[in-house]
Amino acid sequence: MATPVRVAVTGAAGQIGYALLFRIASGQLMGTDREVILQLVEIPPAMAALQGVVMELEDCAFPLLSGVETADNPTDGFRDANVVCLVGAKPRGQGQERGDLIRENGPIFTGQGQAIAGAAADDVVVAVVGNPANTNALIAMANAEGVAQERFTAMTRLDENRARSQLAQKAGVPVREVTNLAVWGNHSSTMFPDFEHALIGGKPAADVLDRDWLEGEFLATVQKRGAAVIEARGQSSAASAANALIDHVSNWVGGRATAADDWVSMAVPSDGSYGVPQGIISSFPVRTDGKGSYEIVQGLELSGYAEGRIKASYEELQEEREVIADLLG
Ligand code: NDP
Repeated sequence: MATPVRVAVTGAAGQIGYALLFRIASGQLMGTDREVILQLVEIPPAMAALQGVVMELEDCAFPLLSGVETADNPTDGFRDANVVCLVGAKPRGQGQERGDLIRENGPIFTGQGQAIAGAAADDVVVAVVGNPANTNALIAMANAEGVAQERFTAMTRLDENRARSQLAQKAGVPVREVTNLAVWGNHSSTMFPDFEHALIGGKPAADVLDRDWLEGEFLATVQKRGAAVIEARGQSSAASAANALIDHVSNWVGGRATAADDWVSMAVPSDGSYGVPQGIISSFPVRTDGKGSYEIVQGLELSGYAEGRIKASYEELQEEREVIADLLG
């Protein structure tokens, strides 16, 4: 068997961490023929809770889990890591504005970017979940000197999965029939789930479903889904976020290449494609090879409507970047 893959996870004692680690350990991230070593990173006050998670991991006796390490700082936590999942971040408190959250979480990601550059493996790939995910990924990337920019991504796959499920339900088909659904822009309420290119059973979604519903209820449902889960469950979504992260990383580096005629959503450093300015990390339709490479799908025609939606979202990312410009080095 090949050398174990080292997977580091921050916020490992949090909600998403609890839904994520057992799936990684069971082989769902890197494949059922690949051993993994988990490197669990937490802040000092959460280390005791993390020990409980470690005990539960041990008690599962996962055949593919060849080690569990813990650390209360990113330099130790990211040592030789091949995959780094940046999940930990401070949640927005009562009365806090978005800008406050960015300013509070930003410094966490400068240190984590530096630690990735200093300690992680040469082939490291990074997926950011902690919000505001796109801008946190930008901060980490800017502070990781010597690490290729395309190794830094943020997760918009949960938005995509939510959107695919809504389309499938409305059309009365299994979710696997919904393909080519990309989310563009920021992981926030401005993101645009691109129903204009989505296919349902191989046909354009706009031919199968009513355009008014797509522009209205569909977009609103996807945008407000997180709040709806909180209201119903009394806690934010965690299992679906962890599931989306498994999808994101396993497509990218865990051997699950995207089909040649399909694509998935990942927030990646913009190369200027589709007029999205460089200097931000924005979600695009991408194809992955399952071995650590991806490419932004080229040649899609965007309607004026789609362009307007995408612009609104990248402008929000540019505004977020202004708020943390001093952290970009
Ligand atoms: P969660 O595990 O529920 O969430 C972690 C992060 O993921 C949050 O920023 C959250 O953003 C984000 N997130 C992204 N998508 C989703 C989604 N669909 N649903 C819910 N969250 C989403 O948070 P917990 O508070 O349970 O755990 C966080 C852990 O991180 C704690 O164990 C804490 O100790 C640790 N932590 C680590 C820090 C560090 O590494 N320096 C700093 C602060 C905390 P949002 O809040 O917007 O939902």
